[in-house]
Amino acid sequence: MLFPGLEAEKPVAYWRPCGGLRHGMAATEVPRPGQERRTLCGELLNIVDASEIDWLAPTCETCWTAAIALRDAQEST
Ligand SMILES: [Zn+2]
Repeated sequence: MLFPGLEAEKPVAYWRPCGGLRHGMAATEVPRPGQERRTLCGELLNIVDASEIDWLAPTCETCWTAAIALRDAQEST
């Protein structure tokens, strides 16, 4: 870490709307349009450019629960 305390907190998940829900996916790589990514709830998602309306979609509960678990696991290390 170059600047302790100044760098943004590591995200536990990236969120992308798809099919009326916002799904989370592992924060290993930023999701880009054209990619196929596995969501935290186990779905295979084709990443597309989301519109502002899409972002109003409710969060996928399964992904949310998984993200919370990931965050808690990160905090305890
Ligand atoms: Zn999901």
